[in-house]
Amino acid sequence: MGNYHPIRVQTMTTTDTMDTIATVEQSIRCIEAGSELIRITAPSKKEAENLLNIKNELRKRGFNTPLVADIHFTPNAAEIAARIVEKVRINPGNYVDKKKFERIEYTDADYAEEIDRIRERFTPLVKICKEYGTAMRIGTNHGSLSDRIMSRYGDTPMGMVESAMEFLRIARGEAYHQIVLSMKSSNPQVMVHAYRLLIKTMLDEFGECYPLHLGVTEAGDGEDGRIKSAIGIGALLEDGLGDTIRVSLTEDPELEIPVCKDLVKRYQVGGAPMADGQSQIPPIENTANSQPSSAIRFPYDPFNYQRRETFAIDNIGGKQVPVVIADLSKIDKITPQHLQSLGYTYDDATDKWNIGDAAADYIFCNQILDFALPGTLKVICYHKTWQFVSKAPSSGGSLGEVKYVPILDGDQYLDDVVQKSSSLNFVMIDCYSEGYTQPSPDKLFTKLKYDRTVVICLSSINKNALQSIRRMFVELMKNEIKNPVILICDSKHAATDESLIHYAVEAGGLLLDGFCDGVCFGHHFGNAAVITDNKWLNTIAFGILQAARTRISKTEYISCPSCGRTLFDLQQTTARIRAVTNHLKGVKIAIMGCIVNGPGEMADADFGYVGSGPGKITLYKGKEVVKRNVNSEVAVEELINLLKESEVWVHP
Ligand code: SF4
Repeated sequence: MGNYHPIRVQTMTTTDTMDTIATVEQSIRCIEAGSELIRITAPSKKEAENLLNIKNELRKRGFNTPLVADIHFTPNAAEIAARIVEKVRINPGNYVDKKKFERIEYTDADYAEEIDRIRERFTPLVKICKEYGTAMRIGTNHGSLSDRIMSRYGDTPMGMVESAMEFLRIARGEAYHQIVLSMKSSNPQVMVHAYRLLIKTMLDEFGECYPLHLGVTEAGDGEDGRIKSAIGIGALLEDGLGDTIRVSLTEDPELEIPVCKDLVKRYQVGGAPMADGQSQIPPIENTANSQPSSAIRFPYDPFNYQRRETFAIDNIGGKQVPVVIADLSKIDKITPQHLQSLGYTYDDATDKWNIGDAAADYIFCNQILDFALPGTLKVICYHKTWQFVSKAPSSGGSLGEVKYVPILDGDQYLDDVVQKSSSLNFVMIDCYSEGYTQPSPDKLFTKLKYDRTVVICLSSINKNALQSIRRMFVELMKNEIKNPVILICDSKHAATDESLIHYAVEAGGLLLDGFCDGVCFGHHFGNAAVITDNKWLNTIAFGILQAARTRISKTEYISCPSCGRTLFDLQQTTARIRAVTNHLKGVKIAIMGCIVNGPGEMADADFGYVGSGPGKITLYKGKEVVKRNVNSEVAVEELINLLKESEVWVHP
């Protein structure tokens, strides 16, 4: 792992670690699906000891895949496991500390004393790992930082980094280096910033970096879980960071592996990073000649989320949520039914359209529709069509200004003879695609800068499309261009799974950098343009905006993947809770398998449903217990009651 080895994919078993055969058989299913490491929970000494039986049985059946023991709170179990398996994962937030959710003020002396306490408790494990050639993951979780870290740094990316660095410094002090690090969070924004900051901190302090294990915790299940994981993991892989990945889904662990593979195969492994299109991307030059090259100022902060400043045009840009543009350009004749697939429902009785929370804001097509559009929906069309509509007598010459909006290429935009809309125009700019020519960006920028009618549409056909588009954002920012920007992202993948990963990675990485005031996803397979399912594309677009925390249109679920500690059927329970709460837009509900890690790990959830014993559930509001040890048979109803008491419940 690391140092240009292929990016390894891995997962974690969900069986009881004391059930040797069930764990072995699940491990084999994961290995056969392609998992290159298998993690198994070891909550106490007896499970740590049973790892030997599991390992022996796997080896007997011919499987040599490395095993990883997952440790929380129990150094004794770690010290046993480190003698048995190939790797031990510790959580620096709870290896030595018990979390009490207390905010104690630590003086420097108190803090140093705490570090000594960690050194004393952690060094024996380091020595065992060194002796047995066992690797270690120092795995920080956003939701389970120690009170010490919380008191000094808060639950910030900096706190996550420092939490790992405290342990890493001790390990380095013992000349132990078989270490991989992780900075997981259920919030991809926090997770991406923490990993980037970790790399910077290691380089600043050590001049070298340890490999990274990437993952988004408690991502949930289905499409949402895949999107969240792809956004967080993908954004970092696009940065060239990450040596092993785990996609945490509330599903059987072997189902995580195809998602890992779809993510990893985007990058060439076993060699230098992919270079396609890279030569086209201009380097970022320091324009202030007097400054040394190290003083180049990047115009945005990759360690903190801040949305790029734009002015608003209509409902795009400024402080407004990013818009979704549905690409219906491949449909010969658009009918009202097509709008139903984009979140609009027509009510015959009232003769009105109802607009859903996840309704597309614009459609892109090149035809004049023969039915009345819902109130806020507009059509983006090519200039010729727009001009025809705006001059049509039936529109009184005004329809083009109200419902239809032109999209222009760079040449059309620069040509003063070409008529423009007085209120809103879309202008396409290609971002450094190989073999693509367009007017020089300088010319475009000079005109765009003072044009408050233009929304820019950025796209690139380079393999390194994200980097190409990001580079164009840097150029826009350097030139102080504040026009809103729509990201145009097309997938050429035949399989929907791969397309989902493609959109989530490309759009997610840019959204997490604070870029994009809207997205438009298209699908082009081979030369023949094939539109797949518009409804699916629309759902994916809203799912990506939600996962990047830029536009909330539905309930957010944070559910753990389950493991040997889980106290109920997590998949079934998650499905039950989802079925009754999926209309509560913006409410974050955590469903966690155990009371040991669940409350800490559910980070910023509004409500928590946590297994607290066999057949028992404890309900949380934020970090506070509100109903303890509720019988699991009535726990979902109790959760609904809690939502009602908290005034977030609405009738479905
Ligand atoms: S929260 Fe879930 S995955 Fe984490 S330790 Fe508990 S049961 Fe296992």
